[in-house]
Amino acid sequence: MSLTVRVLLGLVGGLLAGIGVAASGVPALETAADWIEPLGRIWVNAIRMTVLPLVGSLLVVGVVGTNVRAVGRIGGRAVALFVTLIAFAAVLTALVTPPLIARLPANPEAAAALREGLVQAGEVTAETQVLTVREWLVGLVPTNPVGAMAEGAMLPFIIFTLLFALAAARLARERRELLTDFFRAVSEAMLVLINWILKLAPVGVFALALNLGANMGLAAAGAILYYVVIQSGLCILLLAGIYPLAVLGGRLSLREFSGASLPAQAVAFSSRSSLASLPPAVEEARSRLKLPDAINSFLLPLGFSTFRITAPVPMIVGAYFIAYFYGITLEPMHLATMVVTSILASFTVPGVPGGGVIAALPVLMAVGLPVEGIGILLAVDTIPDIFRTTANVTAIMGAAVVLARGEERVPLEGGPPAGTLAHGQKVAPHGGEPYP
Ligand code: ASP
Repeated sequence: MSLTVRVLLGLVGGLLAGIGVAASGVPALETAADWIEPLGRIWVNAIRMTVLPLVGSLLVVGVVGTNVRAVGRIGGRAVALFVTLIAFAAVLTALVTPPLIARLPANPEAAAALREGLVQAGEVTAETQVLTVREWLVGLVPTNPVGAMAEGAMLPFIIFTLLFALAAARLARERRELLTDFFRAVSEAMLVLINWILKLAPVGVFALALNLGANMGLAAAGAILYYVVIQSGLCILLLAGIYPLAVLGGRLSLREFSGASLPAQAVAFSSRSSLASLPPAVEEARSRLKLPDAINSFLLPLGFSTFRITAPVPMIVGAYFIAYFYGITLEPMHLATMVVTSILASFTVPGVPGGGVIAALPVLMAVGLPVEGIGILLAVDTIPDIFRTTANVTAIMGAAVVLARGEERVPLEGGPPAGTLAHGQKVAPHGGEPYP
């Protein structure tokens, strides 16, 4: 049985088992589920632990080994593409949401049920830092790169690494090669490690899905369901739109694109973290799609750190939902403000579960909505987050194949071809067996 099938079985089996455990109400089964649940988190942690060393080493190898002009060119095109796609998502959300929310009848009971969610959500907000766009801009240059790494602040870390690599590219050849060889070895070791971790995907996905099923099994109701459906529907729409864009813009077959996106999508779907989905995406881009090194080493880390195509969805749908909930009418001017703010704030969305809702705060504040409403959104965020993260990750893969067109499909200067180890031995992707 292929790993793909095993991961899908893990997902479906975990969800059904979780719902069954919740419905049965048997304490022994609930205890068993509680013991299995940490396996999922351990598995996601294992993937996430590879992210910083992988991104850092790939960036250095990418920038020092690629010519600097290519990095500048891809960076400019990438930002233009990201902003265009996010603006499209913002306008689509702004057009679709108001008429749908207008259909909601006033429902005091649903409001009371949702308010209970505020209590749980309090925990989540307490540990997550909320940034305004201005603070985010200032924080882009880290005062302490090690601090940025320790906090997992991806963008400041990337900016430091990029500057370090640009400086290293100016060194004498011998020193430059010393650094490139070292960081290339680090990135190859990380890719081997990721292959090992991905082999455990069926177990990790089962444990994560079990927890999801056990918690969400009976929770769906009225207004929450409506909110969840609108948000998820918009994300699925965006997700579906990425495929033709990638196929036409990247000139590859639908099968190639969907096959290469699947591993990252599986991690995104089960972990709700785009950042955790970076390693399998890089691996597929290298070994299956054979994208240019400048894309794998530079564009993918940049995209996974900054580009969230669905960011405007929770921001705008969430704002309308809170306005409905508190009985506030939003004017067209508010809508325009939200579109613009959501595009800017999209770059502050951390690629972690619920990141998009947390980063919606500046948008709520921009139109004077009660920020406590964010708690309601967080309390019901699991399902929309699954679709957001999956769409986000697919959009990054789509952007990568589109931007790869026109970049030379050549190995880095002075290094072995992508997908090979230093002495020419092939990196066995996924230990020789295709993973999902
Ligand atoms: N969980 C999403 C991601 O990692 C961010 C979000 O909450 O929208 O892409």
